[in-house]
Amino acid sequence: MSDNIQPIRPRQALKQMKPYSPGKPIWEVEREYGIERVTKLASNENPLGPSAQAVAAIQAYLGEIHRYPDADTVDLRLALANKLGVTPDHLIVTNGADELITLLSETFLEPEDEIIVPSPTFSEYEFGANLMGTKVVPVPLQEGYVYDVDDILAAVTERTKLLYICSPNNPTGTYMTRNHLQRLLKELPSRILVIFDGAYSHFVTADDYSDGLEFVRMGYPIMVTQTFSKIYGLAGIRVGYGVAAPGIIHTIRQVKEPFNVNALAQVGAIAALADDAHLEATREMNAQGREQLYKQLQQLGIRFTRSMSNFVLVELGPDAKRIYEKLMSKGIIVRFGGGWNLPEHIRISVGTPEDHEALISALVTVMEEIELEKKLGSLK
Ligand SMILES: *Cc1c(COP(=O)(O)O)cnc(C)c1O
Repeated sequence: MSDNIQPIRPRQALKQMKPYSPGKPIWEVEREYGIERVTKLASNENPLGPSAQAVAAIQAYLGEIHRYPDADTVDLRLALANKLGVTPDHLIVTNGADELITLLSETFLEPEDEIIVPSPTFSEYEFGANLMGTKVVPVPLQEGYVYDVDDILAAVTERTKLLYICSPNNPTGTYMTRNHLQRLLKELPSRILVIFDGAYSHFVTADDYSDGLEFVRMGYPIMVTQTFSKIYGLAGIRVGYGVAAPGIIHTIRQVKEPFNVNALAQVGAIAALADDAHLEATREMNAQGREQLYKQLQQLGIRFTRSMSNFVLVELGPDAKRIYEKLMSKGIIVRFGGGWNLPEHIRISVGTPEDHEALISALVTVMEEIELEKKLGSLK
């Protein structure tokens, strides 16, 4: 039947679209490799799990799910506003920060516009631009994956509409200092919206970091995007939000679907936001885990980039893909850097001490296996 149907032509813009490659889920590796104990260090999830208070709030709400959720997320915006020192009309809540990036693209991007994306970084910025047929202007990070404000300013044209700053940056873990962010905002034309992705802001321990909110409060053209998927441990239920001047929020709301944030996500996020102990415990565990991971990698002579986030970018050389695949076959899921044009790297999420033990022992075995294969290969 379907052979008789004329192919329906999709929009031209779709030719640019690349599929997102997520970290492999645990069940898939269990099934594919027949492994029982899988360690997932691929998606920067919270190794402590969700806040128990969030889980309780979600359970308590289950009897109400025949009702539509609050389209304006009034209670959650109020809770966020109190926490962040802004008013509720500075806030928009979305189905994960990913949805917000799509909404920003749909709101602001015309095919003749450009967005600036310091690279390598999170792929969703490019996805949003490609969706709208908008040109992406990548600005390579400097040596050590450091942001360079002059490079970014030099990429500005009269077509530039949006500029993404991911800080700390995924996948490098590097960040933009407060001074540099301030200078950037001062020197950029005010017709450009800076989107400051602070998905990992809570993991930062450096003193000269800014989570961007102070610049929203000062009235600069900047939107801070945030998520409940990382430190709050609610990745599976999808909540993110944006903070910006009320005029910007109002404009984005024009393209938002009414019931984009489900009811369980709303009550879960409110409870998670109040659970300071869970956040502190996660922050503490991550700061220690990061140092532990550095030490273990150093002992193996493996190079890495020091991170202000809950993941570490690790340089393995030309065998990186082999190592990544072999780790997977042993039940250790990490992220291969190929998608970021970093084919000699993997990104490892910071986990529990047990996770790191499993990772390091598998890594040692895998590297020995590869050495052996090379020796056997050269004997042939
Ligand atoms: C994980 C992540 C997000 C958040 O994604 P959600 O859609 O909220 O799960 C946003 N930005 C970056 C850089 C991320 O790594």
